[in-house]
Amino acid sequence: MKLDTRHMRYLTSEDWRVLTAVEMGSKNHEVVPTPLIAKIAGLRGGSGVHKSISSLAKVGLIAKVKNAKYDGYRLTYGGLDYLALNTYRKRNDVYSVGNQIGVGKESDIYVVADEKGLQRVLKIHRLGRISFRTVKANRDYLRNRSSGSWMYMSRLAALKEYAFMKVLNEHGFPVPTPLAQSRHTIVMSLIDAFPLRQIRKVPDPASLYADLISLILRLAKYGLIHGDFNEFNILILENQIPPDSEKQAVESEHPSGGTLTPIIIDFPQMVSIDHPDAEMYFDRDVTCIKRFFERRFHFISSESGPFLSDARKSVGKDNSKRLDVEVEASGFSRKMARELESYMKEMAVDGDRPSNSQAEEEGEGESDDGEDDDVPVSIEETEGSNIEVG
Ligand code: ADP
Ligand code: MG
Repeated sequence: MKLDTRHMRYLTSEDWRVLTAVEMGSKNHEVVPTPLIAKIAGLRGGSGVHKSISSLAKVGLIAKVKNAKYDGYRLTYGGLDYLALNTYRKRNDVYSVGNQIGVGKESDIYVVADEKGLQRVLKIHRLGRISFRTVKANRDYLRNRSSGSWMYMSRLAALKEYAFMKVLNEHGFPVPTPLAQSRHTIVMSLIDAFPLRQIRKVPDPASLYADLISLILRLAKYGLIHGDFNEFNILILENQIPPDSEKQAVESEHPSGGTLTPIIIDFPQMVSIDHPDAEMYFDRDVTCIKRFFERRFHFISSESGPFLSDARKSVGKDNSKRLDVEVEASGFSRKMARELESYMKEMAVDGDRPSNSQAEEEGEGESDDGEDDDVPVSIEETEGSNIEVG
């Protein structure tokens, strides 16, 4: 789904109130009755509400639900996107939205900028966009939740990702800096690097391999397993050394005068090292790296493992904190983790693990997705609403 910010600047403050009212109403109603929308929005007189409802519906931010027993509306992903962007705009986290740089099964990634033009990344979680409408078995699951499940689960994924990125960042792991979170989205720093997947050649595969394995081990030492550690979720940052420091360039491991630093992204599948399936996740992460290095760089490590049983012994060593515990304390509870996990299992959300695809060496098809001629769309002129949304 494309993020279309064109209509944002044309929404009146009443429209924002009504949109917010639909969001609040959806906490308890799958279809929010029109009178309830008016009540929550606190807009008397009627005609204003109806005008707003029809303008919001016209641009697809809410949708009229047919065949319902009563007249009502539901929030669309577009509407939720606008609410999140409006929150960021008010807090000066995001000023303009630029190119889409990634699209996964379950997320959309955009480059955005703050007021000063500093680029950041907006990740929009879109769980359920494919599955919910098609898989009948999931209807009951949806019905059992008070709020629209796709919305709730996408929010959980964003909360989880933000919570993990925050503790990892605070403990010196090479991850983007988490900057803001709202609803089903997060804002983080932009890493100016390509995913490992797009890298054809490295000067010293053994050393990069060792770095990646030691990252897996360091995560374990802090009580965590990434769960989706693969060439799509590792960005390779090339640290350029200024041309005048010739000596360093000569000593560097990289011919262009830089070193390679892996940055890890994509955390909705992270698990604690105490998870019942920890060993499966750990082995899978290790295997992904081994397989990729063998196929892409023809590098095979002479050592077997590492194995979880060994990694477990390092937990808590050298003053390492249990970050799985810290995340729980930060508000992403065990219950939320379980809900998200069972959803992901049920929907077979499987990250972007490449194991099932044999498209490994196709090469050309994988563009970097950017369309450089897109002019960033400013959301600055948007009329804000003053409603606090919890
Ligand atoms: P998904 O859950 O869809 O796999 P990811 O978080 O892995 O989402 O992001 C998808 C792609 O977007 C990545 O492979 C990477 O190319 C790009 N990307 C994501 N976050 C960043 C970032 N902070 N900086 C630069 N590129 C990013
Ligand atoms: Mg990914």
